[in-house]
Amino acid sequence: MEGKEIERARILDIPVDLVDYDSALDRFRVFMENPGCDMIVTPNSEIVVNATKDPALKDLIEHASLIIPDGIGLVKAAKIKHLPLQERVTGVDFLTRILGELEATGKSIFLLGSKPANEERASVADMAAAAMKERFPGLVVAGTNDGYFKAAEEAALVRKISESGADFLCVALGSPKQEKFIYEHKSEFTSVKAAIGVGGTLDVWAGTVKRAPEFWQNHGLEWLYRFLKEPVRFKRVLQLPVFMLKVMFTK
Ligand code: UDP
Repeated sequence: MEGKEIERARILDIPVDLVDYDSALDRFRVFMENPGCDMIVTPNSEIVVNATKDPALKDLIEHASLIIPDGIGLVKAAKIKHLPLQERVTGVDFLTRILGELEATGKSIFLLGSKPANEERASVADMAAAAMKERFPGLVVAGTNDGYFKAAEEAALVRKISESGADFLCVALGSPKQEKFIYEHKSEFTSVKAAIGVGGTLDVWAGTVKRAPEFWQNHGLEWLYRFLKEPVRFKRVLQLPVFMLKVMFTK
């Protein structure tokens, strides 16, 4: 099964695939059958702006097998540029679809990233794994690891992922760390067929961070909700108007 052709557009000269959830999931199914590890990236407007300034980030996005438009900014930019992109495909919601697909096909996941355990709770990755298994009881979690490892521990971590035999790798280290980790190691994973960078998604599963209520999501205001919850994100939120202005004034 090869799946339908997906159009790849460019926004601020950064590639983005014009997908919806169904076509993205079709592509995921192809990855799970193909040899090697395919990389899925989920750029929002902040990541696109960063990629215009970080050649290594841009280069690895160019090499991704699937680039999903995660953010209202990208949908608005697509409209300005008359690109056929109807809706944003969020990393959080796409991951949920992937979990359903993994459960249905008996394939396993490894969760890497977010905070380690402390006196009060298990690691965020373990809590996320438990919540995922509650929602998808047949899901096989091949392994977990927190995201606060040292450079010297990286080789052992890559071995741990391979030894787990996981079919799919979900990496929550924040951007661009997670994308760089996947890109650097994807040829070393022996069993992993696809890997995705998901930012704060394990925190959402674990319940350590709350997602914006649906009203905010449906009105394209998730960024504002996150800012109000975490004002330290001020500089990051400012990237959205910067992005929109760049899109409007760039051919
Ligand atoms: N994180 C990590 N290791 C690091 C830095 C960050 O595991 O060295 C985790 C952090 O705990 C959080 C996630 O990466 O769970 C990044 O979350 P953020 O909200 O910044 O992601 P975004 O979706 O905004 O990129």
